[in-house]
Amino acid sequence: MLRKGIYLLGVFLRNRKIFANHSFLMKSKRWTIDELESHQLTHLKVLLLRAYEKSAFYREKFDRHGIHPSSIRTLQDLARVPPLSKDELLANVDGIQLDGDGEKLFFSETSGSSGTPLVFYRNADWDAWHRAAVLRGYDWYCVRPWERNGYLWGYNISLKRRLKVRLLDALQNRFRLFSYKDDEINRFAGRLKSATYLEGYSSMIYEVAKRINRGVGVRPSNLKMVKGTSEKIFPQYQDEVQKALGRRMISEYGAAEAGIIAFECPSGSMHMTMETVIVEVENNEVIVTNLVSKSFPIIRYKLGDYVEVDTNAQCACGMAHHVIREVTGRVGRVIRGVENDYPSLTLYYVFKNLAIEHNLILNYRATQRKQGHLTMDIENRLTPDEKALLLKECDKYYGRDLEVDVYDEVDLRSSKKKKLDFVSDL
Ligand SMILES: [Zn+2]
Repeated sequence: MLRKGIYLLGVFLRNRKIFANHSFLMKSKRWTIDELESHQLTHLKVLLLRAYEKSAFYREKFDRHGIHPSSIRTLQDLARVPPLSKDELLANVDGIQLDGDGEKLFFSETSGSSGTPLVFYRNADWDAWHRAAVLRGYDWYCVRPWERNGYLWGYNISLKRRLKVRLLDALQNRFRLFSYKDDEINRFAGRLKSATYLEGYSSMIYEVAKRINRGVGVRPSNLKMVKGTSEKIFPQYQDEVQKALGRRMISEYGAAEAGIIAFECPSGSMHMTMETVIVEVENNEVIVTNLVSKSFPIIRYKLGDYVEVDTNAQCACGMAHHVIREVTGRVGRVIRGVENDYPSLTLYYVFKNLAIEHNLILNYRATQRKQGHLTMDIENRLTPDEKALLLKECDKYYGRDLEVDVYDEVDLRSSKKKKLDFVSDL
Protein backbone atom coordinates (compact mmCIF):
# COMPACT_ATOMS: atom_id res chain seq x y z
CA MET A 1 0.00 0.00 0.00
CA LEU A 2 2.77 2.38 0.92
CA ARG A 3 4.58 1.62 -2.33
CA LYS A 4 1.45 2.21 -4.33
CA GLY A 5 0.83 5.45 -2.48
CA ILE A 6 4.34 6.73 -3.15
CA TYR A 7 3.97 5.83 -6.80
CA LEU A 8 0.60 7.51 -7.23
CA LEU A 9 1.76 10.61 -5.43
CA GLY A 10 4.86 10.73 -7.66
CA VAL A 11 2.75 10.51 -10.82
CA PHE A 12 0.33 13.06 -9.45
CA LEU A 13 3.10 15.55 -8.78
CA ARG A 14 5.10 14.93 -11.91
CA ASN A 15 2.48 14.47 -14.61
CA ARG A 16 -1.05 13.48 -13.67
CA LYS A 17 -2.13 13.28 -17.32
CA ILE A 18 -0.72 9.76 -17.26
CA PHE A 19 -3.86 8.48 -15.49
CA ALA A 20 -6.23 9.67 -18.22
CA ASN A 21 -4.02 8.55 -21.09
CA HIS A 22 -3.55 5.16 -19.51
CA SER A 23 -7.27 4.55 -19.18
CA PHE A 24 -7.72 5.68 -22.78
CA LEU A 25 -5.22 3.07 -23.96
CA MET A 26 -6.89 0.38 -21.86
CA LYS A 27 -10.07 0.98 -23.85
CA SER A 28 -8.50 1.49 -27.26
CA LYS A 29 -6.62 -1.79 -27.01
CA ARG A 30 -9.90 -3.39 -28.07
CA TRP A 31 -10.35 -1.15 -31.11
CA THR A 32 -10.55 -2.46 -34.65
CA ILE A 33 -8.05 -1.38 -37.29
CA ASP A 34 -10.68 0.94 -38.77
CA GLU A 35 -11.19 2.64 -35.44
CA LEU A 36 -7.46 2.95 -34.89
CA GLU A 37 -6.83 4.36 -38.36
CA SER A 38 -9.63 6.84 -38.12
CA HIS A 39 -8.18 8.02 -34.80
CA GLN A 40 -4.77 8.28 -36.45
CA LEU A 41 -6.09 10.37 -39.32
CA THR A 42 -7.84 12.84 -37.02
CA HIS A 43 -4.71 13.38 -34.99
CA LEU A 44 -2.45 13.45 -38.02
CA LYS A 45 -4.41 16.35 -39.49
CA VAL A 46 -4.12 18.32 -36.26
CA LEU A 47 -0.39 17.63 -36.02
CA LEU A 48 0.32 18.60 -39.63
CA LEU A 49 -1.63 21.82 -39.37
CA ARG A 50 0.03 22.82 -36.13
CA ALA A 51 3.48 22.06 -37.54
CA TYR A 52 2.73 24.07 -40.64
CA GLU A 53 1.33 27.04 -38.77
CA LYS A 54 3.82 27.20 -35.93
CA SER A 55 7.11 25.67 -37.00
CA ALA A 56 9.31 27.67 -39.36
CA PHE A 57 11.09 24.51 -40.39
CA TYR A 58 7.98 22.56 -41.39
CA ARG A 59 6.31 25.51 -43.10
CA GLU A 60 9.36 26.06 -45.29
CA LYS A 61 9.66 22.33 -46.00
CA PHE A 62 5.99 21.87 -46.88
CA ASP A 63 5.97 24.99 -49.07
CA ARG A 64 9.12 23.88 -50.85
CA HIS A 65 7.39 20.65 -51.82
CA GLY A 66 4.10 22.30 -52.66
CA ILE A 67 2.22 20.51 -49.88
CA HIS A 68 -0.44 22.10 -47.74
CA PRO A 69 -1.65 20.10 -44.71
CA SER A 70 -5.24 20.38 -45.95
CA SER A 71 -4.27 18.27 -48.96
CA ILE A 72 -3.45 15.30 -46.69
CA ARG A 73 -6.86 13.64 -46.53
CA THR A 74 -5.99 9.99 -46.00
CA LEU A 75 -3.27 8.09 -44.16
CA GLN A 76 -1.86 7.11 -47.55
CA ASP A 77 -1.50 10.79 -48.49
CA LEU A 78 1.06 11.13 -45.71
CA ALA A 79 3.60 9.40 -47.96
CA ARG A 80 3.68 12.58 -50.07
CA VAL A 81 5.47 14.41 -47.27
CA PRO A 82 9.22 13.94 -47.70
CA PRO A 83 10.82 11.98 -44.85
CA LEU A 84 12.81 13.66 -42.13
CA SER A 85 16.34 12.38 -41.62
CA LYS A 86 18.14 12.36 -38.31
CA ASP A 87 20.70 14.88 -39.59
CA GLU A 88 17.93 17.18 -40.78
CA LEU A 89 16.26 16.94 -37.40
CA LEU A 90 19.49 17.68 -35.52
CA ALA A 91 20.29 20.65 -37.75
CA ASN A 92 16.84 22.21 -37.31
CA VAL A 93 16.01 21.72 -33.64
CA ASP A 94 15.33 25.44 -33.14
CA GLY A 95 13.00 25.61 -36.13
CA ILE A 96 11.06 22.56 -34.93
CA GLN A 97 10.76 23.18 -31.18
CA LEU A 98 7.44 24.79 -30.26
CA ASP A 99 5.87 25.73 -26.96
CA GLY A 100 3.52 23.44 -25.09
CA ASP A 101 0.44 25.59 -25.58
CA GLY A 102 0.28 26.18 -21.84
CA GLU A 103 1.36 22.65 -20.91
CA LYS A 104 4.40 22.03 -18.78
CA LEU A 105 7.47 21.04 -20.84
CA PHE A 106 9.80 18.16 -20.05
CA PHE A 107 13.47 18.20 -20.96
CA SER A 108 14.49 15.32 -23.17
CA GLU A 109 17.85 14.19 -24.44
CA THR A 110 18.89 11.22 -26.51
CA SER A 111 22.44 10.24 -27.25
CA GLY A 112 22.09 9.30 -30.91
CA SER A 113 24.44 6.92 -32.64
CA SER A 114 26.37 9.69 -34.39
CA GLY A 115 27.41 11.13 -31.05
CA THR A 116 25.57 14.45 -31.32
CA PRO A 117 22.87 14.48 -28.67
CA LEU A 118 19.36 15.52 -29.59
CA VAL A 119 17.94 17.91 -27.02
CA PHE A 120 14.26 18.87 -27.12
CA TYR A 121 11.20 19.43 -24.94
CA ARG A 122 8.10 17.24 -24.70
CA ASN A 123 4.79 18.73 -23.63
CA ALA A 124 3.09 17.09 -20.64
CA ASP A 125 0.52 15.22 -22.69
CA TRP A 126 3.19 13.69 -24.92
CA ASP A 127 5.23 12.63 -21.89
CA ALA A 128 2.06 11.12 -20.43
CA TRP A 129 1.27 9.13 -23.60
CA HIS A 130 4.79 7.74 -23.59
CA ARG A 131 4.49 6.53 -20.02
CA ALA A 132 0.92 5.34 -20.46
CA ALA A 133 1.98 3.16 -23.40
CA VAL A 134 4.61 1.53 -21.19
CA LEU A 135 2.04 1.04 -18.43
CA ARG A 136 -0.36 -0.68 -20.82
CA GLY A 137 2.44 -3.08 -21.68
CA TYR A 138 3.01 -3.72 -17.95
CA ASP A 139 -0.69 -4.51 -17.60
CA TRP A 140 -0.39 -7.36 -20.09
CA TYR A 141 1.99 -9.03 -17.67
CA CYS A 142 0.06 -8.10 -14.52
CA VAL A 143 2.96 -5.90 -13.49
CA ARG A 144 2.19 -2.93 -11.28
CA PRO A 145 4.72 -0.13 -11.67
CA TRP A 146 5.24 0.22 -7.94
CA GLU A 147 6.34 -3.38 -7.50
CA ARG A 148 9.96 -4.23 -6.76
CA ASN A 149 12.03 -4.10 -9.94
CA GLY A 150 15.55 -4.42 -11.26
CA TYR A 151 16.91 -1.95 -13.77
CA LEU A 152 19.87 -2.40 -16.09
CA TRP A 153 20.61 1.02 -17.35
CA GLY A 154 22.86 4.03 -17.07
CA TYR A 155 25.89 2.35 -15.64
CA ASN A 156 29.19 4.16 -15.25
CA ILE A 157 27.42 6.90 -13.37
CA SER A 158 29.68 9.26 -11.43
CA LEU A 159 29.73 8.82 -7.65
CA LYS A 160 28.16 12.23 -7.16
CA ARG A 161 25.18 11.38 -9.32
CA ARG A 162 24.84 7.92 -7.81
CA LEU A 163 23.44 9.29 -4.60
CA LYS A 164 20.65 11.09 -6.42
CA VAL A 165 19.99 8.10 -8.64
CA ARG A 166 19.84 5.78 -5.64
CA LEU A 167 17.35 8.03 -3.94
CA LEU A 168 15.10 8.17 -7.00
CA ASP A 169 15.44 4.42 -7.40
CA ALA A 170 14.40 3.86 -3.80
CA LEU A 171 11.27 5.92 -4.38
CA GLN A 172 10.48 3.78 -7.39
CA ASN A 173 11.15 0.52 -5.54
CA ARG A 174 13.94 -0.15 -7.97
CA PHE A 175 17.51 -1.34 -7.77
CA ARG A 176 20.06 -1.14 -10.53
CA LEU A 177 23.45 -2.22 -11.67
CA PHE A 178 26.05 0.51 -11.52
CA SER A 179 28.90 -1.24 -13.26
CA TYR A 180 29.84 -4.32 -15.17
CA LYS A 181 32.14 -5.51 -12.42
CA ASP A 182 31.66 -9.15 -11.56
CA ASP A 183 30.80 -8.64 -7.91
CA GLU A 184 28.19 -6.02 -8.80
CA ILE A 185 26.54 -8.31 -11.31
CA ASN A 186 26.57 -11.04 -8.70
CA ARG A 187 24.94 -8.82 -6.10
CA PHE A 188 22.34 -7.68 -8.61
CA ALA A 189 21.52 -11.25 -9.56
CA GLY A 190 21.02 -12.05 -5.88
CA ARG A 191 18.61 -9.16 -5.38
CA LEU A 192 16.44 -10.26 -8.29
CA LYS A 193 14.73 -12.87 -6.16
CA SER A 194 12.71 -10.14 -4.49
CA ALA A 195 11.72 -8.47 -7.78
CA THR A 196 8.63 -9.00 -9.93
CA TYR A 197 10.04 -7.39 -13.04
CA LEU A 198 13.33 -6.60 -14.68
CA GLU A 199 14.06 -4.21 -17.52
CA GLY A 200 16.99 -2.68 -19.34
CA TYR A 201 19.49 -3.17 -22.12
CA SER A 202 18.98 -6.62 -23.55
CA SER A 203 22.70 -7.46 -23.62
CA MET A 204 22.93 -6.69 -19.90
CA ILE A 205 19.93 -8.83 -19.07
CA TYR A 206 21.68 -11.58 -20.97
CA GLU A 207 24.87 -11.09 -18.95
CA VAL A 208 22.98 -11.34 -15.69
CA ALA A 209 21.13 -14.43 -16.93
CA LYS A 210 24.41 -16.14 -17.80
CA ARG A 211 25.74 -15.34 -14.35
CA ILE A 212 22.72 -16.90 -12.70
CA ASN A 213 23.02 -19.99 -14.89
CA ARG A 214 26.58 -20.36 -13.64
CA GLY A 215 25.25 -20.61 -10.12
CA VAL A 216 25.38 -17.02 -8.92
CA GLY A 217 22.64 -15.85 -6.59
CA VAL A 218 19.31 -17.57 -6.28
CA ARG A 219 17.25 -18.26 -9.37
CA PRO A 220 14.46 -15.66 -9.23
CA SER A 221 11.01 -17.19 -9.26
CA ASN A 222 8.74 -14.16 -9.01
CA LEU A 223 9.51 -12.38 -12.26
CA LYS A 224 6.37 -11.62 -14.24
CA MET A 225 8.12 -9.64 -16.96
CA VAL A 226 11.65 -9.37 -18.30
CA LYS A 227 11.81 -6.49 -20.75
CA GLY A 228 14.71 -5.75 -23.08
CA THR A 229 15.05 -2.40 -24.81
CA SER A 230 17.40 -0.33 -26.91
CA GLU A 231 19.35 -3.18 -28.39
CA LYS A 232 18.74 -6.11 -30.60
CA ILE A 233 17.54 -9.20 -28.75
CA PHE A 234 19.61 -12.00 -30.21
CA PRO A 235 17.96 -15.45 -30.31
CA GLN A 236 20.66 -16.87 -28.11
CA TYR A 237 19.77 -14.44 -25.33
CA GLN A 238 16.41 -16.12 -24.99
CA ASP A 239 17.77 -19.55 -24.09
CA GLU A 240 19.88 -18.19 -21.25
CA VAL A 241 17.17 -15.80 -20.07
CA GLN A 242 14.49 -18.47 -20.07
CA LYS A 243 16.72 -20.82 -18.12
CA ALA A 244 17.88 -18.25 -15.58
CA LEU A 245 14.81 -16.11 -15.10
CA GLY A 246 12.02 -18.52 -15.92
CA ARG A 247 10.63 -16.56 -18.85
CA ARG A 248 11.76 -15.16 -22.14
CA MET A 249 12.72 -11.56 -22.67
CA ILE A 250 10.05 -9.42 -24.26
CA SER A 251 10.76 -6.37 -26.28
CA GLU A 252 9.82 -2.72 -26.11
CA TYR A 253 10.68 -0.70 -29.19
CA GLY A 254 10.75 3.06 -29.15
CA ALA A 255 12.72 6.26 -28.83
CA ALA A 256 12.32 9.47 -26.89
CA GLU A 257 11.45 11.45 -30.01
CA ALA A 258 9.26 8.74 -31.55
CA GLY A 259 7.51 7.47 -28.44
CA ILE A 260 6.74 3.83 -27.71
CA ILE A 261 6.47 2.39 -31.20
CA ALA A 262 5.70 -1.19 -30.20
CA PHE A 263 5.41 -3.38 -27.12
CA GLU A 264 5.45 -7.16 -27.15
CA CYS A 265 2.28 -8.87 -25.89
CA PRO A 266 2.24 -12.18 -24.00
CA SER A 267 1.45 -13.96 -27.28
CA GLY A 268 4.75 -12.78 -28.69
CA SER A 269 3.64 -10.01 -31.08
CA MET A 270 5.17 -6.56 -30.95
CA HIS A 271 2.01 -4.52 -31.32
CA MET A 272 2.42 -1.00 -32.61
CA THR A 273 1.11 1.74 -30.36
CA MET A 274 -1.17 2.86 -33.19
CA GLU A 275 -2.95 5.36 -30.96
CA THR A 276 0.12 7.59 -30.83
CA VAL A 277 2.35 6.67 -33.73
CA ILE A 278 2.01 6.03 -37.46
CA VAL A 279 4.54 3.52 -38.71
CA GLU A 280 5.41 3.41 -42.39
CA VAL A 281 8.04 1.24 -44.03
CA GLU A 282 9.96 2.27 -47.14
CA ASN A 283 12.72 0.06 -48.49
CA ASN A 284 12.54 -1.95 -45.25
CA GLU A 285 13.27 1.22 -43.31
CA VAL A 286 10.96 2.41 -40.56
CA ILE A 287 9.44 5.90 -40.82
CA VAL A 288 7.52 7.18 -37.81
CA THR A 289 5.11 10.01 -37.25
CA ASN A 290 4.54 10.75 -33.61
CA LEU A 291 0.91 11.84 -33.33
CA VAL A 292 1.31 13.35 -29.87
CA SER A 293 4.50 15.31 -30.50
CA LYS A 294 2.80 18.65 -30.11
CA SER A 295 5.78 20.61 -28.79
CA PHE A 296 8.36 19.10 -31.16
CA PRO A 297 6.56 17.66 -34.19
CA ILE A 298 8.05 14.42 -35.45
CA ILE A 299 6.67 13.86 -38.94
CA ARG A 300 7.83 11.03 -41.20
CA TYR A 301 11.02 10.58 -39.25
CA LYS A 302 13.60 8.05 -40.34
CA LEU A 303 14.57 6.51 -37.05
CA GLY A 304 17.37 4.53 -38.65
CA ASP A 305 16.16 0.95 -38.21
CA TYR A 306 15.28 -1.73 -40.69
CA VAL A 307 12.08 -3.49 -39.65
CA GLU A 308 9.72 -6.18 -40.86
CA VAL A 309 6.07 -5.44 -40.21
CA ASP A 310 2.92 -7.50 -40.44
CA THR A 311 -0.30 -5.61 -41.07
CA ASN A 312 -2.39 -8.80 -41.35
CA ALA A 313 -1.39 -10.40 -38.09
CA GLN A 314 -4.08 -12.23 -36.16
CA CYS A 315 -2.70 -12.30 -32.67
CA ALA A 316 -3.93 -14.75 -30.08
CA CYS A 317 -4.07 -11.93 -27.53
CA GLY A 318 -7.01 -10.43 -29.41
CA MET A 319 -5.48 -7.06 -30.21
CA ALA A 320 -5.90 -5.86 -33.79
CA HIS A 321 -2.98 -3.44 -33.67
CA HIS A 322 -0.42 -4.00 -36.42
CA VAL A 323 2.70 -5.91 -35.55
CA ILE A 324 6.43 -5.34 -35.97
CA ARG A 325 7.85 -8.78 -36.64
CA GLU A 326 11.42 -7.83 -36.12
CA VAL A 327 13.82 -4.94 -35.90
CA THR A 328 16.44 -6.32 -38.24
CA GLY A 329 19.27 -3.81 -38.09
CA ARG A 330 20.55 -0.28 -38.21
CA VAL A 331 20.40 1.70 -41.41
CA GLY A 332 23.39 3.32 -43.00
CA ARG A 333 26.29 1.46 -41.51
CA VAL A 334 28.33 -0.23 -44.17
CA ILE A 335 30.97 -2.90 -44.27
CA ARG A 336 33.62 -1.85 -46.76
CA GLY A 337 35.06 -4.53 -48.99
CA VAL A 338 38.01 -3.95 -51.30
CA GLU A 339 35.68 -3.29 -54.22
CA ASN A 340 32.19 -2.86 -52.78
CA ASP A 341 30.27 -1.65 -49.75
CA TYR A 342 27.78 -3.91 -47.98
CA PRO A 343 25.00 -2.80 -45.64
CA SER A 344 25.65 -4.04 -42.12
CA LEU A 345 22.25 -5.70 -42.40
CA THR A 346 24.01 -8.49 -44.33
CA LEU A 347 25.42 -9.62 -40.98
CA TYR A 348 21.91 -10.17 -39.76
CA TYR A 349 21.28 -12.51 -42.68
CA VAL A 350 24.55 -14.38 -42.24
CA PHE A 351 23.61 -15.25 -38.66
CA LYS A 352 19.94 -15.77 -39.39
CA ASN A 353 20.84 -18.32 -42.08
CA LEU A 354 23.14 -20.14 -39.67
CA ALA A 355 20.36 -20.28 -37.11
CA ILE A 356 17.66 -21.41 -39.49
CA GLU A 357 19.58 -23.76 -41.76
CA HIS A 358 22.07 -25.20 -39.31
CA ASN A 359 20.48 -24.55 -35.95
CA LEU A 360 23.67 -22.71 -35.06
CA ILE A 361 22.79 -19.74 -32.88
CA LEU A 362 25.72 -17.44 -32.30
CA ASN A 363 26.20 -14.27 -30.34
CA TYR A 364 28.52 -12.00 -32.27
CA ARG A 365 30.11 -8.64 -32.79
CA ALA A 366 31.74 -7.66 -36.05
CA THR A 367 34.42 -4.98 -36.12
CA GLN A 368 35.97 -3.28 -39.10
CA ARG A 369 39.27 -1.45 -38.68
CA LYS A 370 40.55 -1.67 -42.20
CA GLN A 371 38.89 -1.76 -45.62
CA GLY A 372 38.45 -5.25 -47.03
CA HIS A 373 38.85 -6.80 -43.61
CA LEU A 374 36.35 -7.81 -40.94
CA THR A 375 36.91 -9.22 -37.47
CA MET A 376 34.15 -11.46 -36.24
CA ASP A 377 34.10 -11.98 -32.48
CA ILE A 378 31.94 -14.87 -31.39
CA GLU A 379 30.98 -15.47 -27.80
CA ASN A 380 30.37 -19.19 -28.22
CA ARG A 381 33.06 -21.81 -28.52
CA LEU A 382 33.15 -23.00 -32.14
CA THR A 383 34.04 -26.41 -33.50
CA PRO A 384 36.13 -26.36 -36.70
CA ASP A 385 32.99 -27.38 -38.61
CA GLU A 386 30.95 -24.55 -37.16
CA LYS A 387 33.68 -22.08 -37.96
CA ALA A 388 33.73 -23.36 -41.54
CA LEU A 389 29.95 -22.94 -41.77
CA LEU A 390 30.22 -19.35 -40.61
CA LEU A 391 32.96 -18.55 -43.11
CA LYS A 392 30.98 -20.22 -45.89
CA GLU A 393 27.97 -18.10 -45.03
CA CYS A 394 30.10 -14.93 -45.08
CA ASP A 395 31.47 -16.01 -48.42
CA LYS A 396 27.94 -16.02 -49.87
CA TYR A 397 27.57 -12.32 -49.16
CA TYR A 398 31.07 -10.92 -49.45
CA GLY A 399 33.04 -13.46 -51.49
CA ARG A 400 36.69 -12.60 -51.92
CA ASP A 401 35.96 -8.92 -51.47
CA LEU A 402 36.20 -9.20 -47.72
CA GLU A 403 38.66 -11.11 -45.60
CA VAL A 404 36.95 -12.39 -42.46
CA ASP A 405 38.81 -13.40 -39.29
CA VAL A 406 36.81 -15.36 -36.75
CA TYR A 407 37.64 -15.44 -33.04
CA ASP A 408 35.56 -17.57 -30.71
CA GLU A 409 35.03 -17.51 -26.94
CA VAL A 410 35.29 -13.71 -26.87
CA ASP A 411 33.77 -11.70 -24.03
CA LEU A 412 31.41 -9.33 -25.83
CA ARG A 413 30.56 -7.12 -22.90
CA SER A 414 31.26 -3.48 -23.43
CA SER A 415 31.47 -1.21 -20.45
CA LYS A 416 30.88 2.16 -22.01
CA LYS A 417 27.94 2.11 -24.32
CA LYS A 418 25.29 -0.19 -25.55
CA LYS A 419 26.30 -3.29 -27.36
CA LEU A 420 26.36 -3.02 -31.13
CA ASP A 421 26.50 -5.95 -33.50
CA PHE A 422 28.70 -3.99 -35.88
CA VAL A 423 31.40 -1.46 -35.08
CA SER A 424 33.42 0.35 -37.72
CA ASP A 425 36.48 2.51 -37.25
CA LEU A 426 36.51 3.56 -40.90
ZN1 LIG B 1 -0.86 -9.87 -29.30
